[in-house]
Amino acid sequence: MKETVLLSIEENLNNVEADLKERKITLVAVSKTKPVEDIKTAYNVGVRDFGENKVQEFMKKQPLLPDDIRWHLIGHLQRNKVKYIVGKVYLIHSLDSIRLLNELERRYSAKKLTANTLIQINIGREESKTGIYVDDLERLIGACEKCTSVKVKGLMAVIPKGDEESCRHYFKEMKSIFEDLKKREFKNISMDILSMGMTHDYKIAIEEGSTLVRVGEGIFGKRNYNK
Ligand SMILES: *Cc1c(COP(=O)(O)O)cnc(C)c1O
Repeated sequence: MKETVLLSIEENLNNVEADLKERKITLVAVSKTKPVEDIKTAYNVGVRDFGENKVQEFMKKQPLLPDDIRWHLIGHLQRNKVKYIVGKVYLIHSLDSIRLLNELERRYSAKKLTANTLIQINIGREESKTGIYVDDLERLIGACEKCTSVKVKGLMAVIPKGDEESCRHYFKEMKSIFEDLKKREFKNISMDILSMGMTHDYKIAIEEGSTLVRVGEGIFGKRNYNK
């Protein structure tokens, strides 16, 4: 995707959306590290779903942007940050522990609001990544069923870096877990959203059953972390 760096945000969006159309796939434009002006550019051509991975950055940008944006929190969520996001985000992609679940339940129920979440699975079992291991899924699901103010809408994964074959392997594993859960009945849990696929692998992710892709650099160009 080297060439996309040279294209405008509008041109990149056109290209990505062409890949998604006719498939009812949600595009979340990942705006982390990017200025509010870039978000406005994408907003002005119709994008409403934006992803941020840091609560602090989200809190800075959100008040400067239109109210009808659906904010997706895609990064690891620390329990002590939950209080800042209550009622402000559309979907939390990174539910990854019972302790975080309990804090969401506590903070959202206090405000009589509902937290919509995805369970993040560390499908490659990488130490550097967050998300729960598949072995811990049933316990987390059991805890979610006891909640009153947290709903689980599906699953999310960031897969290990690798070639196409490796990507397909992990996407297939996620899809299979997703479909198995879909067949079962839970309280508070439905399998509507399978959030997987980023700039370099979203086309493969879609072929393997993703319903939501999170694309950053493929829309906004390369990120510069040393600014
Ligand atoms: C940064 C990020 C993305 C987007 O990555 P790109 O390679 O820029 O498309 C997607 N998901 C998560 C969780 C991220 O942190």
